[in-house]
Order: sequence, then C-alpha cells, then structure tokens
Amino acid sequence: MSAFHFTNLTGAAEIGANCYSIETGGRRILLDAGSHPKKAGAEGLPQLGLLQDDSVDAIVMSHAHQDHLGSLPVAMRRHPRAPVFMSEATRQLGGIMLHNSVNVMFAEQSSGSEHAPLYSHREVDAGERRWLARPLGQKFDLAGERAGTSEHAEVTIEFSDAGHILGSVGTLIRSGGRTLFYAGDVQFDDQNISPGADFPDFAQEPCDVMIMESTYGSRARPAGFTRAGETERLAQAIEAVFARGGCVLMPLFALGKTQEFLAIFHGLRERGRLRRDCPIYIGGLGAKLTEVYDKLARKTPRLQPQLALLNDVAPFVVGGQNLADLRVRPRRIFALSSGMMTEKTLSNVFARQFLDRPENSIFFVGYADPDSPAGRLRAAGAGGKISLGADHPEETVRCGIEAFNFSAHAARETIRAYVKRVKPRKLIFVHGDPASCGWLAAAAREDLPGTEVLTPAPGVRVEL
Ligand SMILES: [Zn+2]
Repeated sequence: MSAFHFTNLTGAAEIGANCYSIETGGRRILLDAGSHPKKAGAEGLPQLGLLQDDSVDAIVMSHAHQDHLGSLPVAMRRHPRAPVFMSEATRQLGGIMLHNSVNVMFAEQSSGSEHAPLYSHREVDAGERRWLARPLGQKFDLAGERAGTSEHAEVTIEFSDAGHILGSVGTLIRSGGRTLFYAGDVQFDDQNISPGADFPDFAQEPCDVMIMESTYGSRARPAGFTRAGETERLAQAIEAVFARGGCVLMPLFALGKTQEFLAIFHGLRERGRLRRDCPIYIGGLGAKLTEVYDKLARKTPRLQPQLALLNDVAPFVVGGQNLADLRVRPRRIFALSSGMMTEKTLSNVFARQFLDRPENSIFFVGYADPDSPAGRLRAAGAGGKISLGADHPEETVRCGIEAFNFSAHAARETIRAYVKRVKPRKLIFVHGDPASCGWLAAAAREDLPGTEVLTPAPGVRVEL
C-alpha cells in the first residue's frame, strides 16, 4: 500500500496561489499552479522553491481560474519534463487566460510597476504543447496513457466534473490500492449553464484522502434560498433601477460568472422580465472565453446546450480602447470584469462614473475578497466612503449597492453533506480563510468521528 505525502505550497492559509504537492509510489504530482489575485510579481507565486527543480512527474490543472493556473508557466519551467493534464475545456480556456495575464503584467510594467512579467507570450505558446487534455471518467497514468484495468497499476489519474466553471474537474489519484481525491473548486448545485458537480460517490472503493475547498465555510446559506428566488430578486432590482432612470454595473469574473449571467439575462428576456433591446455590455476577455463556452456547449456537461451565448444574447463587447468612450446611460447593464474590481480593470475604471449618481446601482453577485476594491465597496455600502485605487480620491458612495448570491462555489451545507456521505479516512480543508476551514473541519469532526480532519500549515509536508 502506497502512502500519500501532502504539502500545501500556497503562500498562506487563504484563497491565494493554489498549489499542492502530492508524493506517492515514488512519484510527485503537482495539483494546480495558481497565482495570487492581489499580489504582483514573484510575491504572487506559490512556494515552488520548496520542491527540488525537475522533481515533478506530472502537473494537474483543476480549472482555468488565475488562482489555480496563473503560475503554470513558472512551474513548467522548473519541472521541464512534467506533462500537464487538464480537461479539453481548460486547455482552450487556459491559453486565453495566460495570454491575458501576460498582457496585464506587461501593462503593469509599462505603467511603472517594479515587477517584471513572470512569463511571456512565447513561453505560454511553447508550454501549451505540453498540455494534454483528458476526458472525464477515464483513467490514465502519469505518462498520459490510458490505464489498464489492473488495480495496482502504479499511479493513475481520473477526472470528474466539478460544476464550478466550464472544464473544472475533481481529480482522483489511485496509487497502489489507495485513493486521494482533490476537489479543486466545486459547486454541487446547478448554476444556469454549469450543472452541479458529478463527483465520485466512493461506493465501490474507499476514499483514503480527500482535499476539499472551503470558500464559503464561514457563511450559512439563508433559509429557503433558491437560485430561482435569487434570480427573481435580481429581476426586481434591475426593474427598480431602470424605473428610476439608472443603469446597473455588475463586476463579474470574465471566466464563469460572465457566461452564467449571459444565460440569466437570456432567461429574463425569454420570460419578459428584461426588455429584449436592453443593451448588455461585457469585456473583451469575457467575450473570448464565451466563444469557448459556445464552441464546447455540446461536448461538455452543460445545461441549455442549445443556447449560443454570443449569438442569442448578443452583448456589446467593450475593449480597452473603447472603454474611454463608454458612458453611463440609463437602462443598460454593464457586466464587466473583474469581479474583485482590481485596479485598472474595466469594472474598476467604469465604476468611477457611477459612484456619485444615486439613480445607478452596483450589484455584487459572487465572491470578492474583503480587501479587494469590490469587497471594500460592498462593505462601505451606499452612503459610505471609498477609494477604488491609489489614483482615486476617496469619495462618498451615492449609487445603490446590492449583493446577490450566484456563487460558483458550493454552499458549506452541500460540502458537509458530500463529505459525510463519502466518509474519507483523512480529510484536508484548503482554499478558505481560517474561519471557513475551521467551520467545515468542526462539522466534519462532529459528523465523522472516525475521520482524521487536518488543516496542514503551508509549507509543511505531512504523511497521510
Ligand atoms: Zn475557481
């Protein structure tokens, strides 16, 4: 029986640069290689230096969000022989995301940042040749070959759909008769186009180790909450803003949230809750990623596969160049990235036209780090004071501020239920602040007295 060794290479116990090292059967697998959304340059990297160079046998990407993918070229440079496994959708989305990161890093440098870009377009292009897409539900070995049926065939990997965004997967590693399951980012409930996770139930084989995210561990789901109810609340809120002659800004992640909201707007139009000619604006990156959603609609787990987001919803696309010409006009929806309103992104720049106009509203619809501009603006609320960045003098928020829950992350109650059903022998919570990991760990200890629940500190190698 092979043991597993786990090292959390994330910089701190938080939602930052996700990266985990798994050693088993004499092999080493890197799970994700993210970059911290709020830190620039090498400070945003995971602790890749804790691993000897050229010591990784395979790298696995759970999905294409920056906090899981953003340091992949750096990890690949350190481990030049490791193949990189991911779903086909992540392969297509990941290239767009990394090239966008290069653009952002070069733009930061040219506007005076002391940090040199961590990688180039050329390195991303060259690296993509080592990316190997693998289908859901198919076992493969660390060379990428389809694995046989022999139960003890060294180390194998198998993906299952994680329901978080297009292409997101859970990763099951089998090694010498033992199993480790890495959930990545997960949503167990259906969203609008991403169906809920289709994770293994471990009815036929035990789960020896589970690594589970805990983004919403410190937040209870309100009683009676449903996505349909939340959509109705959103529709009423949009109607109220439009009735007073205002418009709506929704800071959204370009990947995942933008596409879910295009589907939501489509549904509202179909039901007569949103005028068909109501202009909807999205960013250029969001549009490029939406093309991949449309292209793979019938080849990936998908609700409403017939819905062609770009054609059927027909959003206007805002690029860096025409952002300066984009004006606040009544009865429009500006669904612009980034979700956290990071400085210099579309939502941050555009919000500056918004804040002093009481007829307008900003709607927050997903996770935002409390220290990000979006987190601070949400906390300040209408009537509060906010500075959106170093070049923005503090001003009073005169527009409306409302928050909705359309999360792409699982509610803590659904994580608790899944963990309880699977009964892993050992359970590790990651990807959450200490309070979030703490609540889920306490719940799991109560539900599963036979399970060892761990929250290993970053940088510490633990035997499982
Ligand atoms: Zn994610």
